[in-house]
Amino acid sequence: METGTVVPLLPESEASGAPEGDATSRNPYAGLVSHLRASWLSGKTRPLEYRTAQLEALGRFLDDKKQQILEATASDLGKVPFEAELSEIFLSKNELYETLKNLSRWMKDEQVDRTLATRMDSAFIRKEPYGVVLIIAPWNYPIHLFLVPLIGAVAAGNCVIVKPSEMSKKTERIVAEGLPSYLDKDCFAVVTGGVPETTRLLENKFDYIFFTGSPPVGRIVMTAAAKHLTPVTLELGGKNPCYVSDTCDVTNVARRVAWGRFFNAGQTCIAPDYLLCTVEMQEKLIPALREAITDFYGPNPRESPDFGRIAGDKQFRRVQRLLGSGRVALGGQTDEAERYIAPTVLADVQPSDPIMQEEIFGPILPIVVITSTDEAIDFINSRERPLALYAFSSDDKVVNQVLERTSSGGFCGNDTLMHMSMPSLPFGGIGNSGLGRHHGKFSFDTFSHHRGCLKRGMGWEPLNAPRYPPYSQQKFGVIRATCKVTRKNDCTLL
Ligand code: NAD
Repeated sequence: METGTVVPLLPESEASGAPEGDATSRNPYAGLVSHLRASWLSGKTRPLEYRTAQLEALGRFLDDKKQQILEATASDLGKVPFEAELSEIFLSKNELYETLKNLSRWMKDEQVDRTLATRMDSAFIRKEPYGVVLIIAPWNYPIHLFLVPLIGAVAAGNCVIVKPSEMSKKTERIVAEGLPSYLDKDCFAVVTGGVPETTRLLENKFDYIFFTGSPPVGRIVMTAAAKHLTPVTLELGGKNPCYVSDTCDVTNVARRVAWGRFFNAGQTCIAPDYLLCTVEMQEKLIPALREAITDFYGPNPRESPDFGRIAGDKQFRRVQRLLGSGRVALGGQTDEAERYIAPTVLADVQPSDPIMQEEIFGPILPIVVITSTDEAIDFINSRERPLALYAFSSDDKVVNQVLERTSSGGFCGNDTLMHMSMPSLPFGGIGNSGLGRHHGKFSFDTFSHHRGCLKRGMGWEPLNAPRYPPYSQQKFGVIRATCKVTRKNDCTLL
């Protein structure tokens, strides 16, 4: 099979009913993986110039395909062009520029402290590419979520197979048909397909797997990776709490929360999933949220060019069912033909309601009433650890209290989503929301093996004598004196 091209939707051997051989020859992607591994072993991806050239080509891909991407995401997912340009193009380019700006520095060997016994030697951490990386992406930001990890994997000197989501069909086609002609076909490839194809792909041994998607599929990917002891990053989803304290600027809170919740029609992994506040704050927030929604989308959001749609029929029906929880305070209108769900706020939602049992991934904001900051913290801590956590308060002590007494992948005080726009911050989950991190230097480090290296001279052999048999307490004393790590970081002998 030629590399760098689209792998057929149905693996060739299965489509043609080819006779079964051994496990490796049977797998339709085995040839591609071994071709990429051979390229990686040749060392061609290691020089800075090579990596920089491939990264710059990714930038050209984004520039050349920008209009097609905006049209495809609008057609596939009902994405608003402004939001698509911001999230798919602009933020991806920021990652690219951050990487191009710093790559030569990130690649440098890191010199480390030495003990007295190794003082004459060279001790350093070398950032090495893992080898062949698999990146599996979801549909909700179908360019950003394969491209941002790809930037890190290329920067770290790996060969890569990208598997975009099969849900966003037109975008998948742009990636599959367009991307290979920008990149070195010996080192980078796009594989298309859904569950059967990805299952077969995952049978192969990769050196690193980067998966973004739902927790159940994350488990499947991790199980497949475990067979080969392949390290993984899992960028998963879940329910992101948003605590609003009684002391805050309600208008500003409403605008910042509404933007984060209704961006991309709520189909954002770090969207605030539900609000926690007192009943008094709920009463203030509802009119403020109404005003924010009207300001953003006009009196009828359905007519607004700035409000998106639910991506597919199955998702639409799932999200629509969740409208039955609590009391509809704002919105609630739906139109299946258009996959439209109005920006909706549900009040007095109970923790046991269906909407509180799963990630909403749609434009619905439930409010769960609590009586105090302590109760909000207990509520958050009694559930799975979220990908993002938000706390609003004019009192910095309250924001800090939530930060210090909870755990989540990321945290943003007095705003939503904004923490993920910064390449200087790690982005990733914890527990049920994922494993590992990326963005900026964290991406480079994720896709680099940190190889601990010590290079010694051939001489000075008498200095090694204390570690050789026959052993004695006196020799141990010399080892202790020359190799001990002292707590004050001072040296016992010099
Ligand atoms: P998904 O898990 O259904 O699919 C993600 C990818 O996995 C797709 O490419 C799909 O083809 C593949 N896949 C699906 N089933 C598979 C299987 N059985 N075996 C192997 N591969 C399989 O997720 P989705 O519906 O595309 O995306 C929505 C989810 O992704 C939400 O939970 C959301 O929170 C999460 N998400 C997380 C982040 C993050 O950065 N943490 C970002 C975006 C989305």
